[in-house]
This record gives sequence, C-alpha cells and structure tokens, in this order.
Amino acid sequence: MGKIIAVANQKGGVGKTTTAVNLSACLAYIGKKVLLVDIDPQGNATSGAGVEKGDVDQCVYDILVEDVPANEIIKVTNVENLHIIPSTIQLSGAEIELVPTISREVRLKRALASVAEEYDYMIIDCPPSLGLLTINALTAADSVLIPVQCEYYALEGLSQLLNTVRLVQKHLNTELEIEGVLLTMLDARTNLGIQVIDEVKKYFREKVFQTIIPRNVRLGEAPSHGQPIIIYDPKSRGAEVYLELAKEVVADGQRVR
Ligand code: ADP
Ligand code: MG
Repeated sequence: MGKIIAVANQKGGVGKTTTAVNLSACLAYIGKKVLLVDIDPQGNATSGAGVEKGDVDQCVYDILVEDVPANEIIKVTNVENLHIIPSTIQLSGAEIELVPTISREVRLKRALASVAEEYDYMIIDCPPSLGLLTINALTAADSVLIPVQCEYYALEGLSQLLNTVRLVQKHLNTELEIEGVLLTMLDARTNLGIQVIDEVKKYFREKVFQTIIPRNVRLGEAPSHGQPIIIYDPKSRGAEVYLELAKEVVADGQRVR
C-alpha cells in the first residue's frame, strides 16, 4: 500500500507545487513507484510534470464529481516510475458541485485506495485554500507535508492550517500525521532566512525537515520546460536538495516510532 502525503498550505506561492512535483520525481528517480495527484484547478503540477493540458480530456474532476475510476484517469509522464492524476481548470467547479453530494470528503480517499497497491508513494498537490479539495486530500492522506517560505510572517496562517488538520483528525481521519515542515526559498544572503529558520524550529521542533530548500534559479525555470528539476538540470543545487528531501522522507518512513 502506497503512503499518501498531502502537500498543503493555504498560502499561495510557498512552494507546494514545486515540492510536490520535485519530491515525486526524486522519489521516482530513486526507484519508488510514485503517483502525483494534482488537485489544484490551476494544474501547475500537471504542466510541471510535463503533461500538456491540451492532452487531458478527463481529469481529477471526473474522479471526484463523476465517479470515474482513478485508473482510467492516470497518465504516465516522461519520468520513469512517475504517473499522474492531472487537473484542469474544470476542477474549479468541483468545490461547489461537491457540497450537496454524499460522502463529499472521502471521494479522493476512495479513489486513491483503488490504486494504492500499484504505488509506493502518492503525493497530493493541494490548492491554496482550506476548502473541500484540501479536506479531501487531508482525509485521504497518511501525512501532511507543510512547505513554509522563509520570509517575514512565515508562521502567519499556519494556526488555521493546523486547526484544519486537527478537525480532520477528529472527524475524518484519526491516523493523519504531520510528515514535516519544509522550509523553502531560503535566500542564503540574508539574515532574515536564518531568523525564520530559528522561529519555525522553535515552534515545530523535530517536525522540521533537515533539508532546507534554497532559492534556486533552475528550480524556477524547470516548470516552463515541463520538466522536474532532476530531469531539467540534475546537477543543479535544486536537484540535489529535492533528492535529499526524497531520501529523508523514505528514511523517516523506515524509522521505528
Ligand atoms: P505554490 O504551489 O505554493 O503556490 P509554487 O511551488 O508554485 O508555490 O512556487 C511559487 C513560485 O516560486 C513558482 O513560480 C515557482 O517556480 C517558484 N519557486 C518555488 N520554489 C522555488 C525555489 N526554491 N527557488 C526558486 N523559485 C522557486
Ligand atoms: Mg501550487
């Protein structure tokens, strides 16, 4: 059974999609079978993993709203061992369309359970909100990975996210854990970054990943080429750190708690 990790933070631009795409690709690169699940209507993980939106006729919307089996929607990518459930702008209607439906919070969970045997990891890229789509992700997930950008007010809004996590733990998914807090877009030239690292570590302690993602130009360029960093520029610092993160995630899973 594959481990399901939701990459979530309701703030936009903190590195969720960059992390979901590159963690997935690096896990695949070290030989794991990975399913990347895009549930953001913007579909940035879909295009970032090299799937042309024009080539997608059915997407995660059809799974969530139309009950189409997940295995009919899964696409292969150019990265060996990496498959994807794509998203398109059609998904933007789902949040409202799901409201009056039965079992609206567990639809993604059921869909992923139906293909779980085929993967070691399933990584969900969440939209920048705490609505029904993110709730579906947290309900389906074994753990949540929270990217936090190294900037002023880094911790702002995190209490809302943690509150949502607690509500999901209480009502929908008692097993949900925090996989870890990932510091992203560190600018090593400023003191601010160091202050933010201290502050986040004080708050989350051992939950903070050892790996810290620096700002890296190649990481910012890769999506426009439809390639994860490990393909676009395997020698870049960006590729190195996401590979490190993938190894940390695998090692954490093996540690006896
Ligand atoms: P989110 O999914 O949380 O909205 P993204 O992953 O899309 O955030 O990142 C926001 C923007 O910052 C994107 O343009 C992305 O390419 C860029 N970016 C993300 N992480 C890095 C990084 N470590 N170095 C440079 N650019 C980055
Ligand atoms: Mg995103």
